[in-house]
Amino acid sequence: MDGSEANILKELSFQLAVTRAMLKTVELDQILYIILSGITHGDGLNFNRAVLFLAWDRRNELRVSRTAGPANGEEAHRIWESIKAEKLNLESLFDRYTQSSSEPQFLTNRLIGFSLKLDEVKPLESLNAMQFELRSIIAHCVSTGKPFYINGVEVNYRDWVTGEDVAFKNFACVPIFLHDEVFGVILTDNFYNSRIIHSDELRGLSGVANLASIALERALLYRRLKEMAQVDGLTGVFNRRYYERHLHDEFMRSKRLERALAMIVFDIDFFKKCNDTYGHECGDKVLRQFAQLLKTNTREEDMVARYGGEEFVVLLTGETSSKDALRAGEKIRSIVESTAFADFQPGQITVSAGVGVVQPEEDFEQLFARADKALYEAKRSGRNCVRLFES
Ligand code: GH3
Ligand code: MG
Ligand code: MG
Repeated sequence: MDGSEANILKELSFQLAVTRAMLKTVELDQILYIILSGITHGDGLNFNRAVLFLAWDRRNELRVSRTAGPANGEEAHRIWESIKAEKLNLESLFDRYTQSSSEPQFLTNRLIGFSLKLDEVKPLESLNAMQFELRSIIAHCVSTGKPFYINGVEVNYRDWVTGEDVAFKNFACVPIFLHDEVFGVILTDNFYNSRIIHSDELRGLSGVANLASIALERALLYRRLKEMAQVDGLTGVFNRRYYERHLHDEFMRSKRLERALAMIVFDIDFFKKCNDTYGHECGDKVLRQFAQLLKTNTREEDMVARYGGEEFVVLLTGETSSKDALRAGEKIRSIVESTAFADFQPGQITVSAGVGVVQPEEDFEQLFARADKALYEAKRSGRNCVRLFES
């Protein structure tokens, strides 16, 4: 076997190891870990560091998703020594995911403020410069859609959030595509050992980028499916199925913490009339607007779900007394009363609400029944009011 055959064999076995590892998971973070470990491991592409920029949470904006590599020269040496000592091969490194995911991400923290709008990118006029700015290099890669590398010059980034500078040297950039559009960029460099990058290394990097786009597409699809199974299609809040599953977890958690749990059930008043008079579409608009209003007027940790029809529940998962829960319900009721929904004037759409609370020593299964009973009382008292369950 000559040298070039050995190289091809090495490249193939590397690709195979990455493919195998990626096919085992649909977890985004784990996929990113595999990509970056493959790029930086000695049996992989052997780069010092790697950064993955992705338009994941904000579809039109590249941000740092994950990084690999040491924070400084000393650490680079330490990692190198420990990998040598442990004889850690690529596959066992991939399997180490859970451990490594809890490691501090120094480089990620230093690039946390980076953001690049995908529709504002333009290519650089020339790649012959003494120095580059990180944003313009990444923008170049996005707008050309082609991989490239530059030896001997620095790329700099100043993070306005942390006030720190980061430099890259002997670097390569490769785009990641999703449905024919650039959706991410891998930046990799040899900052610590100044190893010169050769043109044939771009092939290995592009290979990883191709595998990455397949894995990311699967992960994205998986995430959408998961969301669809959890979220109500009309209003965007959690659906009843998710709420019921989640409620059980919340019961366990509150029991463990010996904490009370509170719930508010809302029901829009005379909603049938709203549909009958202005049509179903108008009714849908009201539902969407009300769901949004619930989201914006509850705490981040509270859970808002559509229980069915025009009935919504809010589970108050933080420390909440009956008084707090009643106040939260009353606040929302009064905001609804003064809001103009769809084609209506303020005051035309109102809600009734029931508040239920269970103490840690009580039967948690009673929670919904209590809130629902209180809601019934609110309706009986003339609507547009909030009642607390009292035994
Ligand atoms: P009350 O004050 O007693 O709550 O009166 P109500 O008319 O709101 O009570 P009821 O529960 O009888 O009516 C609920 C209505 O909600 C009936 C149904 O047509 C309507 N509805 C249920 N789901 C949807 C939906 O997804 N979209 C629209 N537009 N209407 C819905
Ligand atoms: Mg109802
Ligand atoms: Mg109703």
